Amino acid sequence: MNQATYDLLTKICDRCGGRCCYYARPPLTEERISILLDNGISIDDVLFREHRMLDCKSTGFCVGFSDGRCRLQNVKPETCSAGPFTFDVRGDKLEIHIKRERICELVSFLKSDPAVFNEQYELAVEKISHLVRSLPPEELESVCRVEETETDMVAEIPLDEVFANDRGN
Ligand code: SF4
Repeated sequence: MNQATYDLLTKICDRCGGRCCYYARPPLTEERISILLDNGISIDDVLFREHRMLDCKSTGFCVGFSDGRCRLQNVKPETCSAGPFTFDVRGDKLEIHIKRERICELVSFLKSDPAVFNEQYELAVEKISHLVRSLPPEELESVCRVEETETDMVAEIPLDEVFANDRGN
């Protein structure tokens, strides 16, 4: 993605005021926790429940959200990098979903530019696949129990393929 497009996407996200960072609680792998701890996140900001997740502040915004934007931009959790794409695992398939335009302005922009759409889709699949491969099965199950409304499925990928394509990312 070129700098101008990246800046435009960032501008759209800034304008929204962080709706996707409000009670987001993104899931965390062991590896991501370690990266976040090296980048200013405290272990008290990690919730250890049925799966590990980044906590929110008392305002409801993610602990990584500050002055209207994510301060963890370069190290943020996989599901944050994948946005506005999300995922679910059903049976032997990894489903890739996209948020509806009504709840995310970025979606309209992506849909207006197929090249940028594909670039973000590829990044999302890479990040989500890595997350799916890295989470312990019971944590992945727990993540998939979190209901995400207002999304539409855009692709189904056989899980065999996801696990076969472990490129260490
Ligand atoms: S890590 Fe960043 S992008 Fe993800 S929910 Fe928190 S503030 Fe938002």
